[in-house]
Amino acid sequence: MRSKIVAGNWKMNKNLVEAKALASEIVNIARDELKDDVKLVVCPPFISLSAVSSILGDTQNVFLGAQNCNDNKAGAYTGEISVDMLTSVCASFVIIGHSERREYFGETDDFLAKKVDTVLAASITPIFCCGEPLEIREAETQYKYVTDQITASLFHLNEEQIKKIVIAYEPIWAIGTGKTASAEQAQQMHAEIRKHLASKYGESVASEISILYGGSCKASNAKEIFSGEDVDGGLIGGASLVAREFVDIAKSF
Ligand code: PEP
Repeated sequence: MRSKIVAGNWKMNKNLVEAKALASEIVNIARDELKDDVKLVVCPPFISLSAVSSILGDTQNVFLGAQNCNDNKAGAYTGEISVDMLTSVCASFVIIGHSERREYFGETDDFLAKKVDTVLAASITPIFCCGEPLEIREAETQYKYVTDQITASLFHLNEEQIKKIVIAYEPIWAIGTGKTASAEQAQQMHAEIRKHLASKYGESVASEISILYGGSCKASNAKEIFSGEDVDGGLIGGASLVAREFVDIAKSF
């Protein structure tokens, strides 16, 4: 059975002191209130990964993720962070291809394919982001746009590798805008993504891959969004910066 996952992307928010406080609060609430079948992932900025890792300790249902990593294993890449460095702080997830990285840092489908390989080789789980801009949704070509992103960056993987990927569908028009996709829009896209995966890898493999929704998801709308049969959780931006709100999203299952 595929995992239910709620991942928090803290983006460029929270300094070290604030990150430690937020992580402690999340762990405390999750320990008491969260069911074992839901995984929480917290993705703080690089500088706080090590401290947050110590705070998570051996907490069973809260995992550490990074927001990015370099596509090379090591070397002269000033300012970059490698998968080995992520492993050394016990990060088990990394967000790959967030729309902000695609837009502001020019990350392309081909480049992301290489990054996915580097991450998988380090036994870290990529949370691979895809999603269409508003003009594509308005032109009603969103399914092709998103499935093309998946083909270009993931379809070189073999069956065992693709099963290790978590996909996050994040319509760009819903990120940080307060405008959420309807539960129906989310479910339709997730079903299309799963069908696309099945066309290449078969139904059984496709049914094992977790597909998360991201875009202005919060405790008040998570229950409805997560009710879609192909929606396996969320990638949460703004609402992951408040511990109570973040855990309540995960409790919506
Ligand atoms: C995100 O950036 O991944 C995201 C989903 O942000 P928000 O929840 O703030 O829309």
